[in-house]
Amino acid sequence: MSLKTRFLSLAAGLIVISACASWLAYRELSADLIERWGRQVAEIQVRYDSARLLQSLEREIGLARQMADSSALLNWAAAPGNQALEDTAIREMESFRANFRDNSYFVALRESGHYYFNNEQNEFAGKQFRYVLDPDEPNDAWFYQLIEEGRDFHLNVNPDAELGVTKLWIDVLMRNSANQVVGMVGTGMNLDTFLQDIVDINQEGITTLFVDYNGAIQLYRDRNYIDFASVIKPEGQKNTVDLLFDAPEDKQQILGMLQLLKKSSGSAGHVESGFVTVEGREHLAGVAFLPAIGWFEITLLDLNTLLPKSYLWPLVAVFIASLLITLIVFHLIIQSRILKPIVGLEEAVDKVRRGSFTLPRLDKPDNEIGRLVDHFEKMTDSLRDSTRELENKVSLRTDELARLARIDPLTNLKNRRGLDEILEEEIQRAERLGSGFGLIWLDIDHFKSINDQLGHQAGDEILCRVALWLKAGVRPYDHPGRWGGDEFVILLSPCDPATLERIARRICENVEQESRKTGTPVTVSVGGYFSEPGDNIDTVLRNADSALYRAKNGGRNRVCITPSDKTGINPV
Ligand code: GH3
Ligand code: MG
Repeated sequence: MSLKTRFLSLAAGLIVISACASWLAYRELSADLIERWGRQVAEIQVRYDSARLLQSLEREIGLARQMADSSALLNWAAAPGNQALEDTAIREMESFRANFRDNSYFVALRESGHYYFNNEQNEFAGKQFRYVLDPDEPNDAWFYQLIEEGRDFHLNVNPDAELGVTKLWIDVLMRNSANQVVGMVGTGMNLDTFLQDIVDINQEGITTLFVDYNGAIQLYRDRNYIDFASVIKPEGQKNTVDLLFDAPEDKQQILGMLQLLKKSSGSAGHVESGFVTVEGREHLAGVAFLPAIGWFEITLLDLNTLLPKSYLWPLVAVFIASLLITLIVFHLIIQSRILKPIVGLEEAVDKVRRGSFTLPRLDKPDNEIGRLVDHFEKMTDSLRDSTRELENKVSLRTDELARLARIDPLTNLKNRRGLDEILEEEIQRAERLGSGFGLIWLDIDHFKSINDQLGHQAGDEILCRVALWLKAGVRPYDHPGRWGGDEFVILLSPCDPATLERIARRICENVEQESRKTGTPVTVSVGGYFSEPGDNIDTVLRNADSALYRAKNGGRNRVCITPSDKTGINPV
């Protein structure tokens, strides 16, 4: 994996880890904030809805209480058969009817079971007595049940089969001076209007409902859930609030809240809240007890509607965008400050490794890598200088060795290898030009005995002297050399057969004359051959050697030339 990929993967990994941590922290925090906010909203909403309900009921309840305490009605209830009292009582009822918002009332007397009613249309003027309540009649059970419960005040949602209306009834017990229940008065409110005003408020995401002391649903936008005639139903058959929730723990929670609020009913305005699931959506439920009417008010806040998750999308978009920008910026910085200089340096190192010291312009960022590149450039410069110096030395040494390899150390003449090379070149040149050259092969006579007599050292000195005399006897451009032992070879070029013979003789004579001057006379036998185009080294050497052989056999200290077929020179 390249450094770049590693860096980017590492950066992306770190960013993703920190992003996940931030995201979790954000979620925790936002959930906590939403919960706090939701609880406060729920409490405010509960108080607001309760106030609205109480506001619209308070006046009606007050009037109903006044009606129950009316002396005209109480006197009549004590003597229901008295027509005069009844007339007074009905006038009193009618005056209350004018004041009730619904313009309706009912009065039921306990002893006689007589039920009186009149409505907004004054439909029952003069015939307010409607019917007689029957303890065995289920539709009338509410009356007897409420008296039995003995609560002075009661709210009840109930359809009236006789009257054919469903109303929210306000029922107040009439008590005489001995505190005995003598009847019941109240008014009804049209349930539909009431639901519209109080419960069907057009606030999206907010659901309000009211349940009675036992948890039976009294006011709810879905009438199917309302527990009509709740007061006469036995426990277990009521439409209680827990029907709204699917999860058993939610049911438990809500019922638990009701219990808690019942216990703390003294502390006014206390609100319980908690999360519940309604129709598959998470809601925050706020519950308050309304002591004035003995009901609970429940407000359900759909948090996803009030605070949709889509609110978070811009945040997610900003997060992803910042992640990408961070990666791109990181990539660009890493690329320009680290990777590009390193790649350049790597190529430069490879170039130097392959022996090229001419570096391209390298990036030098203002950091450790820039300093590394700088050091590398300086190192490359000094490496180039020392390499060149070394190469020069090696070249000189090689030239010297090559020269020495072709020189005879004793005589400083060319040795056999040097002679071979020059001979090869000369053969090719002769071939090219169609010309010839001369070759002399000479050998010191009786050199063994000189060595034997004078010693090897003296023999060496004689070899050196002979070399000097050979040099002196040839032209500057001829090539004298020591073939080995006491044998010498001279290549004459340019040359012709006559020059060959002349120089061969001169050498032979020079050696004899010059050596005599030294006190140690030596002679040489000389063989010569003038080459012709097409001859190879072997032919030339063999012919020169055979001439030398003949000179030795002919008595030594003489010159013999091997004749060439073309030149036709006679042997000497
Ligand atoms: P010939 O006249 O037939 O040439 O007789 P020769 O004694 O010279 O016989 P040959 O040429 O065969 O002998 C060469 C001698 O040269 C043999 C050897 O001892 C001697 N020699 C060879 N190399 C050296 C050298 O480097 N220094 C000395 N001092 N003697 C050498
Ligand atoms: Mg010899």
